[in-house]
Amino acid sequence: MITVRSDLRSLEGYHSPHVDVAVRLNTNESPFAAPEGFVERLERELAAIEWNRYPDRNARGLRAAIAEHHDVDSDRVFAANGSNEVLQTVLLAYAGPGREVLTFEPTYQLHAQIARITGSAVVEAERSADFSLDPGALEQAMARHRPDITFLCSPNNPTGLVDDPAVVQAAMRTGHGLIVADEAYAEFSEWSAVDLVDEHHNLVVVRTFSKTWSLAAARLGYLVGPTWLVAELDKVALPYHLDAVKQAIGRIALDFVADKNARVEVIVAERDRVRAGLEALDVEVVPSGANFILFRPRAADAGQVWQGLVDRGVLIRNCSSWPRLSGYLRVTIGRADENDSFLEALSEVLV
Ligand SMILES: *Cc1c(COP(=O)(O)O)cnc(C)c1O
Repeated sequence: MITVRSDLRSLEGYHSPHVDVAVRLNTNESPFAAPEGFVERLERELAAIEWNRYPDRNARGLRAAIAEHHDVDSDRVFAANGSNEVLQTVLLAYAGPGREVLTFEPTYQLHAQIARITGSAVVEAERSADFSLDPGALEQAMARHRPDITFLCSPNNPTGLVDDPAVVQAAMRTGHGLIVADEAYAEFSEWSAVDLVDEHHNLVVVRTFSKTWSLAAARLGYLVGPTWLVAELDKVALPYHLDAVKQAIGRIALDFVADKNARVEVIVAERDRVRAGLEALDVEVVPSGANFILFRPRAADAGQVWQGLVDRGVLIRNCSSWPRLSGYLRVTIGRADENDSFLEALSEVLV
């Protein structure tokens, strides 16, 4: 019998339990459909696709549209099948066997997971007890481990906390390896590191169409980075990895920026309302700059609270078995009626 690579044997797959309930607030998707008119535009483009031909290997139209959105040159943009594939490509090019990746826990589990799959060693450093990341502690950890890649995540998943700009600046100052700033939720927060990207720093900023753009089904993400780095990623990505439909989806989506901004505004307002609702209950709430909120019931068992919500038709994420997150639950911000259902169910469960 053949066996899997020995370093993969202890790896567990990525799990996000799916329970069939009315209100699903567990995976940080947008609760809103893609914008009005989006599907019609896509249908028209589908009719024009030459199905017998390979798509544009360099996804030039898509890259140009993303580049224009961020006001950068298109050779600073690399796109892939979800930001997870962007991260994998970065890790294949700049980490891998014999190289080391640094994370600050708790953070997005897939950073360490994909790093391990690519054969990289992972070093886990710690965030503070309040989940914030101190620039001094970050510099120390980077100086000690001299990682080939350091992952930052702001707003951080699953905590929702936004890193201070000083964190990214400190990481850039150390000059150790590549800094990967995962900004899957940046549009929900106050600032972004994307303006810090230039030719002289080892910084890339990773974004996704899965959350703010209401396009989780499309699997499309990208990074903005120095041109020399993008050129290396282009060598590592599989030929034609971005199919013609996906390239069209991204281009069309970027014509609906105003709709995207309007959806973000609604979600941010709802987030503040849900936060106020949570603060009125017996739970500790972590401040969030994202489209989800991490919280901890003070006097009730998190697993029982999670089950009580499922029993009332509301699914959220139970983080309480995750390292450093004992007792914590994470709720995605949904539509107003879904958020009402959540708050009502939670207040029932907590009495
Ligand atoms: C949801 C999420 C992503 C998105 O991954 P895709 O592959 O683009 O769907 C990336 N990073 C973080 C931190 C996330 O929470």
